[in-house]
Amino acid sequence: MVNTGTIIYEPGSSAKNKTGSWRVFKPVLDQDKCVKCENCYIFCPEGCIQEKDGKFEIDYDYCKGCLICEKECPVKAIKAEREEK
Ligand code: SF4
Ligand code: SF4
Repeated sequence: MVNTGTIIYEPGSSAKNKTGSWRVFKPVLDQDKCVKCENCYIFCPEGCIQEKDGKFEIDYDYCKGCLICEKECPVKAIKAEREEK
């Protein structure tokens, strides 16, 4: 939950503010198509794509659904799906 006026009272507290709740579209990564080029990791403005055990994963708690990752993936391994609420 973001405070009124988006004031941050405690330094370093932004990780507690999960910002992925207003997405309209959700990027879904197909691990079988992924060639591990790192483009999505480099271009994600939220820093919410991470490599874990040799796989790239999207942290949906922070992903805002801008779909830059989908546009930058050279092999179309990321597809946008409408978010179900
Ligand atoms: S949709 Fe945007 S915020 Fe979400 S993982 Fe892709 S680049 Fe990052
Ligand atoms: S941009 Fe596409 S191919 Fe490259 S690491 Fe991300 S999902 Fe994999």
